Amino acid sequence: MNRGFPLNCGCGGRITKFTSSTQDNPKRPFFRCETRGEVSEFLEEVMLEELEDALPKVEVHETEIAKMKSEIKDLMEVVMNNKIEIQKKKVVIKYLVVYACVISVAFGAYVLY
Ligand SMILES: [Zn+2]
Repeated sequence: MNRGFPLNCGCGGRITKFTSSTQDNPKRPFFRCETRGEVSEFLEEVMLEELEDALPKVEVHETEIAKMKSEIKDLMEVVMNNKIEIQKKKVVIKYLVVYACVISVAFGAYVLY
């Protein structure tokens, strides 16, 4: 038997939600086949099945989210280290540019005079 919200009846008829008006089940929602009229399930039974089926999926998602958080943390560390390395390289490049300027000025002065 199918679990969760019924889509179609075994007879092929469409299943619709009704509200019970019997004394035993006053105002209790249930599903019924439109073609043959047989009662499928009460709404709260269906909801419970949906919940029971969804909980393991939620647990899997929680585990996956925890893994992703851990990966993001690791990647953020890599990003921070790369930023520090880039800053260091920028300083080295600045020194090299200044050094190259000094050398070329000195060389220019040597050639001209
Ligand atoms: Zn039916």
